[in-house]
Amino acid sequence: MAQLTDSVSVLRGVGPSRCKQLEGLGIRTLYDLLSYFPRRYEDRTKITAIADLQPDEPACIEAIVASAPRTAHIRRGMDITRLTVADHSARLNISYFNQSYISNSLHYGQTYYFYGSISSDSPTRQFTNPVFEAETSAPIATRRIVPVYPLTAGLSGKVLIKLIADTLDSCLQDVPEILPEHLRLTYGLCSVQEAYRNIHQPQDMPSLERARKRLIFEEFFIFAAGLQLLRASRTARYCTPFTHLDLSAFLAQLPFTPTGAQRRAMEDLKVDFASGGTMNRLLQGDVGSGKTVIAAAAAYLAAQNGRQGAFMAPTEILAEQHHRSLAPLLEPFGIRTVLLTGSMKQSEKNAVRAAIAAGEIQLVIGTHALISDTTEFSDLGLVIADEQHRFGVAQRGALAEKGRDPHMLFMSATPIPRTMTLLLYGDLDVSILDELPPGRQAIETFLVDEQMRARINNFIRKQVDENHQVYIVCPAIEEDETGSMKSAELWAETLQRAIFPDYRVALLHGKMKGAEKDAVMRAFSAGQTDILVATTVIEVGVDVPNATLIVIENAERFGLSQLHQLRGRVGRGKAQSYCVLFSSNRNEQTRARLKALCQTTDGFKIAEQDLALRGPGDFFGSRQHGLPQFKVANLSLDIPTLQLAQQAAAELLSELSETPEPDHPLLQRMRMLFHDDPPVLN
Ligand code: ADP
Ligand code: MG
Repeated sequence: MAQLTDSVSVLRGVGPSRCKQLEGLGIRTLYDLLSYFPRRYEDRTKITAIADLQPDEPACIEAIVASAPRTAHIRRGMDITRLTVADHSARLNISYFNQSYISNSLHYGQTYYFYGSISSDSPTRQFTNPVFEAETSAPIATRRIVPVYPLTAGLSGKVLIKLIADTLDSCLQDVPEILPEHLRLTYGLCSVQEAYRNIHQPQDMPSLERARKRLIFEEFFIFAAGLQLLRASRTARYCTPFTHLDLSAFLAQLPFTPTGAQRRAMEDLKVDFASGGTMNRLLQGDVGSGKTVIAAAAAYLAAQNGRQGAFMAPTEILAEQHHRSLAPLLEPFGIRTVLLTGSMKQSEKNAVRAAIAAGEIQLVIGTHALISDTTEFSDLGLVIADEQHRFGVAQRGALAEKGRDPHMLFMSATPIPRTMTLLLYGDLDVSILDELPPGRQAIETFLVDEQMRARINNFIRKQVDENHQVYIVCPAIEEDETGSMKSAELWAETLQRAIFPDYRVALLHGKMKGAEKDAVMRAFSAGQTDILVATTVIEVGVDVPNATLIVIENAERFGLSQLHQLRGRVGRGKAQSYCVLFSSNRNEQTRARLKALCQTTDGFKIAEQDLALRGPGDFFGSRQHGLPQFKVANLSLDIPTLQLAQQAAAELLSELSETPEPDHPLLQRMRMLFHDDPPVLN
């Protein structure tokens, strides 16, 4: 008897070359084959009268062969087999190209089902190469809902359907049920057998829907359970609990009172540090929500407990910036805080590294590569990563290998809707700073069009004359052929030459070399540049408090969240700040979107809106976000199911941790997915 784990080669008709084809589709075992789901379906259940056939609408007819097939040779390598069929309503011509063997299968006077369409391009009403089945044969390609699979060269849908049918007949009862019955009842889900049968061979549309519902749920369920297990196994790694958890001296020295959200986040840290397991926490907070203090508190507690901390930033400039803000919060307590960057002299770097290895330094701040690849610590107990979306689940795992299972705190300044947080950070615990410090001046945001150009230029002039600085963001680096977008290169040149010859205009974009970019950014930070024309490279966290105006060209080209992020570049100092969105787009929806940005400064609200408007694909854009791929589920439509599945996964895992069942099908499935040892439960 065939087993689900058997190779597909056990199937009749599957030799080495077919095995290769299937492998190309990622199908090795019978289980893989059953889990290879159709991309779409063709409803061939309805029989249409020949007289009612509509051009280009595929349909199924039931007809008698009224003239026996005849094959004619047209030219070298091309022959055509013609026949006529008829039903009660009309006659229809049928042609097959290079399939003369058809003559042996279609017999005069007998009834068959044909599935095809008449082409609106063709001068005669006829079917070309329709699939057919005898009245007496089992319905496979006609008279039913036919699954359409993603295929590969040499492998037809018909073959795949047959292989899957054979496998369903022999192995369906072996497909493990990972969802306990009470859970299926609660969420109204059919059994796994029913689901696999109907996803491949749906009886009717309602049973297909039931199958899809169950499989979408299962897919999310496995995903959520996997992340939860991963999280559990990471936090289960033993880590000597911190015993000094008193922050009062640290708090007393702060120049302000922490917000409620900041207090909650600090409490979360303490609980993690005291737990005896390692911390895996995401700190999410909009720009200006005060994440730095949380990072400082974490480093403070690590130092109080005799452990070292490492703070990793995506760029050198950001590392310097973090060093400038963290050191003053920590040094008063004798916590030595140093910067380690690639541009430091080799001798300096060596000295810093030696001090780190000797345990003389409590917090080192540098770029990811610099710290994770080459630095030896004496006792690394805490890693803080300013992550800006650059890490996936796997990279986070790799980080944990550094040191003796250090506590890890990831910081993200990009507000993401809660459901999406689960997709991207489901392996982490989350603290959210959803409260801005009091007394912050809201950035005034305006939507304008070209008619306002002269006035905006005057406004830029006014800001610079008041010794402030200005960002101008363009959607493209270079001019494209259509000229429909402002390009940073050309616009910077135009501004400098024709509009602001008396000001210092600089250019910054992603194609420049790292050192070049750093130099431009440093000059702007130091106030040596008045106007910085840039692409979205400035999105990533640079902090120039003296910048009070950001002008965004072709604003319709950006997502709301991205615009919000860009806007966060200003309003970091005491002076009132402004954001000007240029757009000549007249589309009502686009204008509504941009106006919404003028009215709210709440990054989480904006993100929710952005997600609803554009769907997850566009929301996360072309940037690499490590968004998981699902086979059945659609992230735009099925998000509510994700939440249910996550809740269900948590319930089942907690049941399993109380009464362990090492052979539970869910854990077996995890073993298959993780290939080696699955994450363990407690
Ligand atoms: P983020 O990194 O989240 O963008 P920062 O940590 O840089 O935010 O904080 C932004 C500014 O707000 C800093 O100048 C910081 O000193 C100040 N700040 C942080 N928390 C508070 C607070 N509770 N009250 C007043 N000011 C605060
Ligand atoms: Mg910050």
